Amino acid sequence: MKFTFASWAEPLLSEIENDELFGFDNKMPSPEGYEPKGALERSTLSIPRISERYLMKHYVNLSQMSYSVDNGPHLLGSCTMKYNPKVSEALASSDGVARMHPLQPPSTMQGTLQILHELERWLAEISGMDAITLQPAGGAQGEFTGMLITKAYFEQKGEKRTRILIPDSAHGTNPASAAMAGYEVVELKSKDGTVDVDLLEKVVDDRVAALMLTNPNTLGLFEEQVGEIARIMHSSGSLLYYDGANMNAIIGKTNPGLMGFDIVHFNLHKTFATPHGGGGPGAGPVGVRSFLEKYLPVPRIRADGGVYTLDYSMTDSIGKVHSFMGNFAVLLRAYVYILMNGRDGLTRNSERAVLNSNYLMKRLSGLYDIPYKGLKKHEFVASASTLKEKSGITAMDIAKRLMDYGIHPPTIYFPLIVGEALMIEPTENLSKQTLDRLASIFNSAAGEDPSVLHSAPHSTAINRVNEVKAAREMVFRWQDMQATADAGAAAEGKN
Ligand SMILES: *Cc1c(COP(=O)(O)O)cnc(C)c1O
Repeated sequence: MKFTFASWAEPLLSEIENDELFGFDNKMPSPEGYEPKGALERSTLSIPRISERYLMKHYVNLSQMSYSVDNGPHLLGSCTMKYNPKVSEALASSDGVARMHPLQPPSTMQGTLQILHELERWLAEISGMDAITLQPAGGAQGEFTGMLITKAYFEQKGEKRTRILIPDSAHGTNPASAAMAGYEVVELKSKDGTVDVDLLEKVVDDRVAALMLTNPNTLGLFEEQVGEIARIMHSSGSLLYYDGANMNAIIGKTNPGLMGFDIVHFNLHKTFATPHGGGGPGAGPVGVRSFLEKYLPVPRIRADGGVYTLDYSMTDSIGKVHSFMGNFAVLLRAYVYILMNGRDGLTRNSERAVLNSNYLMKRLSGLYDIPYKGLKKHEFVASASTLKEKSGITAMDIAKRLMDYGIHPPTIYFPLIVGEALMIEPTENLSKQTLDRLASIFNSAAGEDPSVLHSAPHSTAINRVNEVKAAREMVFRWQDMQATADAGAAAEGKN
C-alpha cells in the first residue's frame, strides 16, 4: 500500500498579493490604547496583504505536501521523534498560560513557579542529579551551559584545564559546544563502538576538563565500562558530562547519577514528547551534582513554606543563558507528559522503545549489515554497505524510497564511523504490526530495481532534491531568493 502526498500548485504569499482578497477580509484590531503612535505609526507595511480565508488554504495545502509525527512512523535515529499527546498542546495554549507575561511579579504566578519547581525536582530524580536549571532552549544550549559551568568550576579552583574529550561516535553538537566555550576538542577513537578505556587512561591528564559522553551512545550501545570511565576521569580531577539525548533508553532502569556523571543535559523535546523538528523551540535543562549547583544560571526558583520566589543572589552563577525561565510552554508539555505517564509509565516507555528497536533490528539483519553485534538500546544502526557493493543501492536510496510508503526516513550517514549508515529509532510508539510493515518495506526496497531507487521518491510533492546544493547554497527567505534571481538576471543581461 503506497502513500501519496497531495501536490498543490501553491504560490508564495508574496506572489498572490492583492489577487485573492475575496470575502471575509478581517482586520486584526489593535488592543485599545496600544495603537502605534508617533514614530511607530506606519501607513504601509512591506508584508503581503492576505485574507484569512486565503491564508488558511495556503497553509493547509502546504501541510498536505509535508510530513509530521502525526502522519506515521518517523524513524530519525537519535532524535526520538515521539507522538506528541494533544492534551499537552491544549494545556500549553490555554488562556492561563498563553496570556501570562514573563514580567509579572512572582506573587501573581505561583502556579507557574510551582510547575517549574516540581519539574526540576522530577528531572533531578530521573537523572540522579542534585539541582536542575530549566533555562537552556535545547540540547546544544544545554551542552554549552554545561561547558560554561565546567569552566567556572575549574577557574574557581585555579586549575588551567583546556581540553574536552569527545568520542568519535558523538553528536556534532558536542564538539561545537565545547569549542564555543573556548575548549580544545580532543577526539577519542572508539573500540568496538564504545569508549576505548585503555586509550582514555592514556589521554586523561591535568589538561583535561571533562569527557562528554552519550550513554547509550549513538550506535545504540550501552557503555558498559562507564563505572571505570568515571573512576578514570575523577581520579585525574576531571568532570564527566552526560549527553542526555538518548535518555529514552534508560529511564527507570538506571540514571547518569548512578553511572558517575557530574553534569547532565536533557532533551525534553525528545525524551518527554514535546514537538520538535524544524529547529525548535525545545528545552534542554541541565542537572548537576551539589558541588556545581552554585554555578547554575539565575534566577533559581526557591520554595519556602509553599511560597515560590526567584533568587538572583548567587554570585558564582554563570549568569543567564535564556531570557526569563526558558521555554515555558515546552517545559509545561514535558511536565504534563511526565505526570500522565508516572514512574511506571516512563519505565515502560523505555522498555518498549528498547524492545521495538531490537525487534526491528532482527527483522532487518538479513539484507542489511548490522555492525556492532549484540543487543542495542532504543536505536540501532544498520548499513547498506553490502547492498552498495552488490547493486549500487545506497543508504540515501533506501531512505528516499521509504517516503513512497509514507514513512519518514531514518537518520542517514551518521554516526560517521559506520559506512552507508541508516540510524533507526522506532520509539515506543510503534505497534508490532507497524514494525512488521516497516521491516517488509525495508526488505523489499533492498531487492528493488536500482533505477527505481536512485530516482525515489516518486509519490511525494517534491521528488529527489539536490541535497548538496541545498546545503551549500542556503536560501531561507523570499528576499534571498529574489536577490539570487536578480543577480542571475543581471549576469544574463551582461552576457
Ligand atoms: C539531538 C542531539 C543533541 C542536540 O540536541 P538539540 O536539542 O537538537 O540541540 C545532542 N546529542 C545527541 C546525541 C542528540 O541526539
